Amino acid sequence: MKFENTLAFAQSLDAKDTLSNYRSEFNFPKVKGKQVIYFTGNSLGLQPKRAVEYVNEVMTDWAELAVEGHFYANKPWWDYHERFSEPLSKIVGAKPSEVTVMNTLTVNLHLLMATFYKPSGKRVKILCEEKAFPSDQYLIQTQVKWHGLDPKDVIVEVKRRPGEHNFRLEDILAKIEEVGDELALVLMGGLNYYTGQVLDMKNITAKAHQQGAYVGWDLAHAAGNINLELHDWDADFAAWCSYKYMNSGPGNASGCFIHEKHHTNKELVRLGGWWGHNKERRFLMEPNYDPIEGAHGWQISNLPILTLAPYLASVELFAEIGMPKLIEKRNLITAYLEFIINTIGAEVGGNFEIITPIEQSERASQLSILLHGEGRAMFTYLMEAGVIVDWREPNVIRLAPVPLYTSFEDMYQFGQILKEGILSQK
Ligand SMILES: *Cc1c(COP(=O)(O)O)cnc(C)c1O
Repeated sequence: MKFENTLAFAQSLDAKDTLSNYRSEFNFPKVKGKQVIYFTGNSLGLQPKRAVEYVNEVMTDWAELAVEGHFYANKPWWDYHERFSEPLSKIVGAKPSEVTVMNTLTVNLHLLMATFYKPSGKRVKILCEEKAFPSDQYLIQTQVKWHGLDPKDVIVEVKRRPGEHNFRLEDILAKIEEVGDELALVLMGGLNYYTGQVLDMKNITAKAHQQGAYVGWDLAHAAGNINLELHDWDADFAAWCSYKYMNSGPGNASGCFIHEKHHTNKELVRLGGWWGHNKERRFLMEPNYDPIEGAHGWQISNLPILTLAPYLASVELFAEIGMPKLIEKRNLITAYLEFIINTIGAEVGGNFEIITPIEQSERASQLSILLHGEGRAMFTYLMEAGVIVDWREPNVIRLAPVPLYTSFEDMYQFGQILKEGILSQK
């Protein structure tokens, strides 16, 4: 499609957009009385109006039923989390038995590492990407120390080539082969939070398995954003937060995937609790722990229903639309945003570059812009002009045109604001 940087063209794309009516399902903040252009759905998704209803339902059941709500609420609480299995499995490309929801993301990665990181003999090393999201770095470092090992000896980072912004698949595969039978675990972000690069999870997983290692994926920026086929890719485990593209609310619950092939392996130790125990016998208060076969068998505590409620509303919204439609619009709107940025940059001489990969297969709903000049001033200017973007040190602005609720007109208007900002800086 040949794009044009005009309001009429942007509006014509909105008119053809089959998802455009979902915009009204979300609450937008305002700056100076005007609805914002929201580019930070990769950090905290907007509030779906349905989420409010789902939370109110739990509040009402709690008021009217109290403890009886566990079994007699409109959506009973004791197995509330099972409502996620079907719709969530479709979003991440899993079987329903392979997904569950609990805790928060970093906590779940710790718990999954407790199962899947078992250093023994010379197989002790963990492979990750350099400059991983800070929480992942701390997670891996502290897990290693908890096993009495030295992070220096055990953590292997895949690096970018000098002068390049993104990882090369061949370098990741070569590193896996180099570590070989010392490799215990590969744990990486499937979609890089900083650059927006999507990794080839299928081939990386296969390569690590050839070396006899387990593979886990942090899908914080991938869930609800890209096509995932966790079961077919044969990933051992994965976890994601739900408050980014999945719009479940600040700091909200995480989802986990544990491949079916591990479900009946009772040798795989998990840190247990009563909610992962045989469902039929959970309330018999027996001494012997008998984990459920399936991802729910990694549950520990009874679940925070008030936090699951908005997440369920969101998951059902995704299920209603389906990932293929979201991805189709995502590709178009991201390409349009890229066109706008490049057009404005050329027109007024913007001193910046997009560091997100150009290839569609290697990126999703995020463009990261590296500002070579006065970056922070541009960020402040945009925020004051009602464009909500995010700032990453030392000099990157990330823009996520989330297909569920952003419009093509937003992209055009953003371009006009950007242009004024660049001109006023000169
Ligand atoms: C957002 C994000 C997190 C956040 O972890 P929490 O435990 O939810 O605070 C972790 N890892 C990555 C890669 C992220 O992008």
